[in-house]
Amino acid sequence: MSKRDFYEILGVPKNASDEEIKKAYRKLAMKHHPDRNQGDAAKPAEEKFKEAKEAYEMLSDPQKRAAYDQYGHAGVDPNMRGPGGPGAEGFGGFAEAFGDIFGDMFGQGRGGRGGSRVYRGSDLSYAMEITLEEAAKGKDAQIRIPSWDSCDTCHGSGAKPGTSAKTCGTCQGSGTVQMRQGFFSVQQTCPHCRGTGKIIPEPCTTCHGQGKLKRQKTLEVKIPAGIDDGMRIRSTGNGEPGTNGGPPGDLYIEIRIKKHDIFERDGDDLHCQVPVSFITAALGGEIDVPTLAGKAAIDIPEGTQAGKQFRLRGKGIKGVRSSYPGDLYCHIVVETPVKLTEHQRKLLRELEESFKKGGARHSPSAESWTDRLKNLFT
Ligand SMILES: [Zn+2]
Ligand SMILES: [Zn+2]
Repeated sequence: MSKRDFYEILGVPKNASDEEIKKAYRKLAMKHHPDRNQGDAAKPAEEKFKEAKEAYEMLSDPQKRAAYDQYGHAGVDPNMRGPGGPGAEGFGGFAEAFGDIFGDMFGQGRGGRGGSRVYRGSDLSYAMEITLEEAAKGKDAQIRIPSWDSCDTCHGSGAKPGTSAKTCGTCQGSGTVQMRQGFFSVQQTCPHCRGTGKIIPEPCTTCHGQGKLKRQKTLEVKIPAGIDDGMRIRSTGNGEPGTNGGPPGDLYIEIRIKKHDIFERDGDDLHCQVPVSFITAALGGEIDVPTLAGKAAIDIPEGTQAGKQFRLRGKGIKGVRSSYPGDLYCHIVVETPVKLTEHQRKLLRELEESFKKGGARHSPSAESWTDRLKNLFT
């Protein structure tokens, strides 16, 4: 088979400028690109595409063009073609030749092959608020979520009984249209039928042409023990239904944990403030502290200072992915007595006098603080 003339293929004169050659090739490449030629047109378009590509590769290279001009097809060694060498046909050089914008445009059109587009349904998100106790123990919850049933009136077609959907005239049922953007022509979702390829002249009155009806359904959700604020549980396939037979989306249940009256959570650990009278703090003794599993007793030693923390090992929360539960930290808040009687005031003044006699040794914090002040001013 004799080869066609490269200039003839691109439809340019022998004295065409580089710019004219490039322009001519772009036009042909757009026209014959495999993304835009389907079915019976696919094979001949591919041949034309390759032919144009070869012609462009020869004529855009000054050395090869000169050789071709002088000797014709015999002057250009087919084995010297392109970075991939012989047989590396493909369409890879295409985006390279024109940059990314060009490639992106074809990228958009790819989903359009074969008419009506298939879309996965959207994901849904559901916010669920639970207590800290529920988060620690886990919970079986029931939630109401939207669900979609096929419309009984039209059996899902969306058309009024006795009528039927028609092929969209704008896109001829392909679901996509060619839009011109300056020099380029781009494939876009058909605005008339929104990509479905069909128009419903008389929509079903029950579902307003949707073919489906939104309902509510109850879903059982297992909240795992140890779940933390902000974690999400995925319920596969419980999102919105897909379009044109596409798979449904997923439902994400996002956990919010209510603020607790006593505990603050930090990962697997819990923290709480425990008020202690200054008498108990001074003398030491057993105090009750709260835990998620009920009360626990801790011994505080004589002379316990405010802010001292006691750790209760394993009394925290066992996280979803943890092997051991965290700890509970009890922060001691030494309470200053209020609403004193005259007698109590008198006792405290007597106590103060007694402390003064003992000097600073009764007040370790004040002692070290006074020392530090001295250092500051001298
Ligand atoms: Zn359409
Ligand atoms: Zn209907």
